[in-house]
Amino acid sequence: MTAAADRSPDTAAGLEYTEAEVHQEFGENPNEVRDTNHYQEEYVKGFVDKWDDYIGWEGRAASEGSFFIDQLSARGVEKVLDVATGTGFNSVQLLKAGFETVSADGSAEMLAKAFENGRRYGHVLRVVQADWRWLNRDVHGEYDAIICLGNSFTHLFNERDRRKALAEFYAMLKHDGVLILDQRNYDEILDHGFSSKHKYFYCGDTVTAEPEYIDDGLARFRYTFHDDGSVYHLNMFPLRKDYVRRLMREVGFQKIDTYGDFQETYGTESPDFWIHVAEKT
Ligand code: SAM
Repeated sequence: MTAAADRSPDTAAGLEYTEAEVHQEFGENPNEVRDTNHYQEEYVKGFVDKWDDYIGWEGRAASEGSFFIDQLSARGVEKVLDVATGTGFNSVQLLKAGFETVSADGSAEMLAKAFENGRRYGHVLRVVQADWRWLNRDVHGEYDAIICLGNSFTHLFNERDRRKALAEFYAMLKHDGVLILDQRNYDEILDHGFSSKHKYFYCGDTVTAEPEYIDDGLARFRYTFHDDGSVYHLNMFPLRKDYVRRLMREVGFQKIDTYGDFQETYGTESPDFWIHVAEKT
């Protein structure tokens, strides 16, 4: 069943949307949709607008604190490439903190939204449409840091694409550059199933995010907005933490530190997110 069929009102965040802006196309067998290119169809306007409106940038900024900015500042970073700009949250945070920032994304629609959001916060984003697999073709220059945040790398469905993307990131970094890439803690769901304490990953007053289906090759999440009952989905590849660390090492990154939920040390409690900080030298 498609998201559009799941929901009755075609309004989101109080705005009128066309069918195309709320309709995600997963076809007859949504659990068979395991395609690196499918991200373009999943981030429909109705979904991304609601996500931003209800999660709220202020709330996100508060929960992340200054983790990313501290990591970058500690390394003397000046020039940053945000390869997963989305609606612009991370790029705007970087601009606010004074970093020279270029904002890339494979989706033109997301970049348009990011640009609009940037203006709202008083910044003019430098946006470039580029798929990670061919990043060097479309984005020029060398960067002190690349960020790939908001659980974005999970959209790559095969290992060749992951290696290609990481190699492209590596090539765009200066000799002492750093890649910061985050991911959901899929090990927890793969190893302990949905019935663990992590069943609901985000349970604010307004939206619930929960895994609807999981196997070694797919994590399909359902996002339910409580105000109008609208439902959206994302099909993602469940990346294991050590697998991502290995791939990073294999493309050439020399030192990889992995943090849990923005904390320097992670104990026995399993965090919801991992953040890999990979240094080139
Ligand atoms: N970093 C932002 C945040 O945290 O709000 C956005 C994250 S959003 C979950 C993931 C973004 O990655 C989407 O905007 C999507 O278009 C982009 N993306 C996914 N696969 C991509 C690819 N192969 N190349 C370029 N962008 C891609």
